[in-house]
Amino acid sequence: QDRVVVVGAGHGGVQVAASLREGGFAGAVTVVGDEAALPYQRPPLSKEHLSPGRPAQPLPLRGAGFYADHRIDLRTGVRATAVDLPRRTVVLDDGDELSYTALVLATGAANRTLALPGSGLAGVHDLRTLADAEALRADLGQARSAAVVGAGFIGLEFAAAARAHGIPVTVLEAADRPMARALTPVMSDCLAAAHREMGSDLRLGEGLAELLGRDGRVTGVRTGAGAEHAADVVLVGVGVRPRDDLARAAGLLVHDGVVVDSRLRTSDPHVYAVGDCASFPGRSPGTRVRLESVQNATDQARHVAAGILGSAGDYTEVPWFWSNQGPLRLQIAGLARPGDTTVVCGDVPGRRFSVLAFRDGVLVAVESLNRPADHVAARRVLAAEVTPTPQQAADPAFTLKGFAG
Ligand code: FAD
Repeated sequence: QDRVVVVGAGHGGVQVAASLREGGFAGAVTVVGDEAALPYQRPPLSKEHLSPGRPAQPLPLRGAGFYADHRIDLRTGVRATAVDLPRRTVVLDDGDELSYTALVLATGAANRTLALPGSGLAGVHDLRTLADAEALRADLGQARSAAVVGAGFIGLEFAAAARAHGIPVTVLEAADRPMARALTPVMSDCLAAAHREMGSDLRLGEGLAELLGRDGRVTGVRTGAGAEHAADVVLVGVGVRPRDDLARAAGLLVHDGVVVDSRLRTSDPHVYAVGDCASFPGRSPGTRVRLESVQNATDQARHVAAGILGSAGDYTEVPWFWSNQGPLRLQIAGLARPGDTTVVCGDVPGRRFSVLAFRDGVLVAVESLNRPADHVAARRVLAAEVTPTPQQAADPAFTLKGFAG
């Protein structure tokens, strides 16, 4: 009998199982996840979960009855420790061994940690799991001041939440603009101004040197330049690394993530990888991409399920992403890179605008702030054969919706 084993019960892993059943897969499906909770949505952990006055309820990916109803053998609180590629088996830390006809790695990513003095103090957090979010929320409720290390998406979502609790917050970012890795300068400059207006003390070009503490608890942060800022809760958001160690130990090709081909197959024909842990071919020849977003994990999961069921297409979905930071609704479609030409449409001072990024005259990405209709149109335009030119986009009468038709 066919048996698909999925390692990782997050956004990607659960979607693989659901899509296999939707597609009529008749064999056995087992999903193994090392977290104890019923699989849950990660994005709310840095948003609704930290909001004042909201109950801290995790949002499950599927209802508790879904797995049994769909004959999905969900094993939570169990870690896969080894894969034997020639024998096609996975070893679990509860002593079980599962054989498979297809294996899907959906192991996600792990937060990078700081090797700096004081990083082990109580009150210093990072954020990836429900358990992390619960610990952070408890400390935030008691805090008089907060600090964030790294002005990425999660750091700024936390900063906005701390401000909503009325807590002074210092944000340290070593780069000269926030979210520099993902956003065009126009958008990150606008978001920097908006966070300062919300009351965050955003310090660009200032890295962390040390976490200060007393009696084992954090009391503040010290920057490389020697400035000290009080904080009794600190969130470290300095990026992630893919969880590709299981794949590497098994002998699969790994390079900043599990290397997969255009059909999301690893270097072993019976093993696939999806989501945060997978490095896949980019749109430009010779490039590789690894993305950290719900859309990427779930669309890749659907694609792999279809592949297991016999379809042979390449993965070509347009990537998209969102982040909510206080009153700011940021949505991104496509992937911009440094050096892309940009055209801005809309009202920048009113914080309702989109940035269109072009490479070699072709539209490659659209960042929208508080313009959800632009984002929806952008996804359609980016998926189409013909995109607008920078000259067309610069016409004051141009709209993405109008172009999408
Ligand atoms: P995950 O959902 O992380 O699931 C991987 C699972 O595999 C984990 O539970 C992990 O513990 C488990 N695992 C790993 N190794 C093993 C093993 N050996 N055995 C068993 N289990 C294992 N994305 C957005 O698009 N929008 C957002 O607003 C957004 N906000 C976010 C906020 C936070 C706080 C975080 C942490 C992430 C956010 N993301 C957001 C990113 C998004 O959640 C991830 O891109 C998405 O969860 C990736 O799905 P995945 O299946 O690849 O990995």
